[in-house]
Amino acid sequence: MLFSEIIGQQAVKERLVRSVAEGRISHAQLFLGPQGSGNLALAVAYAQYISCVNKQPADSCGTCSSCVKYNKLIHPDLHFVYPVALSKDVRVSTDVAPKWRESFLDNPYITLYNWFESLDAENKQAVIGVEESGEVLRKLSLTTYEAEYKIMVIWQAEKMNQASANKLLKILEEPPDKTLFLLVCESEDQLLRTIVSRTQLIKIPKISDTDLMNVLVESHGLSPENAERTAHLADGNYAEALLLLNENENAAQNLSGFQKLMRASLKFNPQGVFAWIDEMSAAGRERQKNFINYALHIIRESMIVNYGDASLIKLGKDEQEFVKKFAPFIHAANIERFMDELNKAHYHMERNANAKILFMDLAFKFNELLNVPKQELASR
Ligand SMILES: [Zn+2]
Repeated sequence: MLFSEIIGQQAVKERLVRSVAEGRISHAQLFLGPQGSGNLALAVAYAQYISCVNKQPADSCGTCSSCVKYNKLIHPDLHFVYPVALSKDVRVSTDVAPKWRESFLDNPYITLYNWFESLDAENKQAVIGVEESGEVLRKLSLTTYEAEYKIMVIWQAEKMNQASANKLLKILEEPPDKTLFLLVCESEDQLLRTIVSRTQLIKIPKISDTDLMNVLVESHGLSPENAERTAHLADGNYAEALLLLNENENAAQNLSGFQKLMRASLKFNPQGVFAWIDEMSAAGRERQKNFINYALHIIRESMIVNYGDASLIKLGKDEQEFVKKFAPFIHAANIERFMDELNKAHYHMERNANAKILFMDLAFKFNELLNVPKQELASR
């Protein structure tokens, strides 16, 4: 991890580089920063910089023998501790090390939720257990392999339980020679005060809106306007920005699917309907359910446009354009049945109904509903 790969945080980077240049490397440091700020990425980039054998003025070289190993997180003097879901096969971090390397390299802004998702353990408790301290001592007692320092990065240090934190404290009080502890945490109040008092604090702020906007434009191809909106919503949290990007992408896909379905059902164009069904059936079950929910959302918003204040609608720009044209097709005489059919479809989808039959049925129903005359209810 190079400093240059980390979004913004210029002041923190300069401070870290300076501490190395001036030889003031404290043996225990606490990288404290909110989720998505890059606290973990900064700790790893700092460790890499310390070990780099061809340091540049502001960054690691990226190509020396040490950097090459750091790029894959396989340097023998770099160790990690992170929360795991304890089980009979998983007692300490090392037990899931390959998964960890893969997850971090894939996304250095990884959140605890992302990490547990990749472990298939979303609902389990995240802990750094007491056995981990023994493992830390064992790793640190190994002689330094290649670098000047052995570096132990403890991610989500606040997840240490009491026993585990107490043991670590003892190690911090009498640290082994040439060893660095980089604790990475989001919330200081959950850490033992005694641990906080024995570490040097590196405070990491949220990413600035400008830095976040720039990365969204440059690396994710967003328009400046869209980048500004996303950066504002993400509030300095890059992990959140990634989540929003993913949602935007899904929304765009869903909108296009919804448009195709409505166009094909309005006058029942069989070719269009079959093409849409093929497309939808090929998607996974979760995407299909997500689409049904999306259709419910668009129909509800269309009703709001018809009967309420258009400023209340919760839609993106493309969706608003579409809904303005589509809204006249949704009215008192068909709204209830639209919702009903979609809810039923969702229900059957969850019970593994055949997607092709279900979507065909939906297209027929929509053909009927889109053509219900507006005044039908009033004339009754
Ligand atoms: Zn290097």
